[in-house]
Amino acid sequence: MQQSGKLKIPTHRIFFALWPDDAIRQQIHRQIYPVFDHPQGRKVPKQNWHITLAFLGNVSDEVYSCVQSQADMVTGKSFELELDIIGHWSRPKVVWLGCSQKPAALDALFGNLNQQIADCGYSPEYKIFQPHMTLMRKVTRKPKPLKFQPVKWQCIEFVLVESKVDDKGSIYKIINTWKLS
Ligand code: ATP
Ligand code: MG
Repeated sequence: MQQSGKLKIPTHRIFFALWPDDAIRQQIHRQIYPVFDHPQGRKVPKQNWHITLAFLGNVSDEVYSCVQSQADMVTGKSFELELDIIGHWSRPKVVWLGCSQKPAALDALFGNLNQQIADCGYSPEYKIFQPHMTLMRKVTRKPKPLKFQPVKWQCIEFVLVESKVDDKGSIYKIINTWKLS
């Protein structure tokens, strides 16, 4: 039916992610806070830290429902992630926390999730998955090396997050959670 005025297509900006609990966020912060002394850049607020599994961007209501039904069919196993390296990518200008050993179950989860949501029209931008937690943005100069105690994170679930921007920055809201076995 034709509506008067501007036609509004409802959209959601969404991504799937691994989402640390508060205790893990705290542990990470205790270990890596000197990174934030970097003279450049913008800190990602602690409550926003996550590892993206699939970024869908702005999607319609239909895709929003579709990816959630497809995620119901993901069969993933829980795993331990040891966050032990801090890196810097010069092109996206981010400082990140990641792992030198990628658990096979994490790769399997990434592969399975991407395969399931392909049915909703999604294809990943990057085929190789480099799990990372962005800590800082707009950093052009590598941070000083930091010795820290690796943080062991037991990943038991993955989530779908809706991302909105207000005048203070990105606001993330968890829409749905799927347990790993
Ligand atoms: P801002 O863009 O304002 O800095 P943000 O990056 O925190 O905010 P989004 O742009 O909604 O928020 O991104 C949400 C998550 O998806 C972030 O982890 C971001 O790095 C990741 N992401 C964003 N764009 C892409 C993309 N094109 N490919 C892969 N991951 C992406
Ligand atoms: Mg972004």
